[in-house]
Amino acid sequence: MSQIKIVNLQKSFGDFTAVKNSNLTINDKEFFVLLGPSGCGKTTTLRMIAGLELPTSGEIYLGDEEVGMLRASERDIAFVFQLFALYPHMNVRNNLSFPLKMQGYKKSDIKNRVEEAAKLLRIDHILNSNISSLSGGDRQRVALGRALVRRPKAFLMDEPLGTLDAEFRELMCLELKKLHLDIGATTVYVTHDQLEAMSLADRIAVMDGGEILQADEPNIIYNKPKTKFVASFIGSPGMNFFEVNEGISKDQSFVNIEGAKFVIPKQLEESKGSKNFFGIRPENLTLNNNEGLKGSVFGVEYLGSRKIITVKTSLGEIKVKTDISINVKLNENVQVKPLNNNIIIFDGQTDKSLNSEFIK
Ligand code: ATP
Repeated sequence: MSQIKIVNLQKSFGDFTAVKNSNLTINDKEFFVLLGPSGCGKTTTLRMIAGLELPTSGEIYLGDEEVGMLRASERDIAFVFQLFALYPHMNVRNNLSFPLKMQGYKKSDIKNRVEEAAKLLRIDHILNSNISSLSGGDRQRVALGRALVRRPKAFLMDEPLGTLDAEFRELMCLELKKLHLDIGATTVYVTHDQLEAMSLADRIAVMDGGEILQADEPNIIYNKPKTKFVASFIGSPGMNFFEVNEGISKDQSFVNIEGAKFVIPKQLEESKGSKNFFGIRPENLTLNNNEGLKGSVFGVEYLGSRKIITVKTSLGEIKVKTDISINVKLNENVQVKPLNNNIIIFDGQTDKSLNSEFIK
């Protein structure tokens, strides 16, 4: 198993640059997720690592070896396209053996490798079973086993759970995470689903427009986003943004936005633009009757132990995540104010966070 490193990686299709000057180090045994909206360059990045697409410029290292110009078959990497793409007419053993037979391995080597992978994946007791008789979890194990028998240095997965319904997907996410802990293989996983990314990843790289905007652990991506795009892409419901048409100075202590007092974080970079954004997550806002931004209740959603209350204000709709005990009616007049100082300020010109500690 191995570290993957990409250096100044770029891919253009004609005049269009799909991946722009990207740099990443994916650690040995790490579960690394490339996350972003459709068309942001996730698949192209993964395909370059796999060797299915050649870079326009830049380097790709697998361990110490530069592999950027090697063919896919010459790289010790397994690309798992779809976790359920198995041969239905073959039993488990034959499904696992097939890739090795195709590569001309000796029968005894195939037997050893298949049995070793089956043991690791805890499917050794079903080697003679038909694929059609297996549960979804076991099928997924067999599909991974097919990649594992090659003993690759890394696994690459492109939206492997994309076609599943929500409930099954959640279950498969847990299975995948468990498998990764068992196998400990470096894994690069592509998804546009932030919840999937948050639950699977050791680290996430958020991409947009062919660029990697931030690569960090899920809790850092959530709590210390470096750009407004990262902040808005993560979280359900998403972060609330308040536009303020004023520059923010380092020694300022708060901004009053339509009656709600927003305390400025202590360590702040000087803003470049005259327009800035305050970002605050729904769980960091609260409702009351006598202080803060005025509005009326537009929607109430129950989330089990919490409620999401949407409030229509002069600044647009604001989402507040409250305790289940808060009772409000539709159209009721309420006021919204920050519950704490967990506020992120974004430069209106550069989109970057001005909270100094996030940038380091
Ligand atoms: P999705 O989740 O929709 O697959 P993605 O983030 O994986 O999105 P990519 O598939 O990497 O995005 O595509 C990035 C951009 O590059 C898109 O605009 C896409 O249309 C373009 N692109 C990808 N492959 C090619 C190609 N072979 N020729 C021309 N343009 C391409």
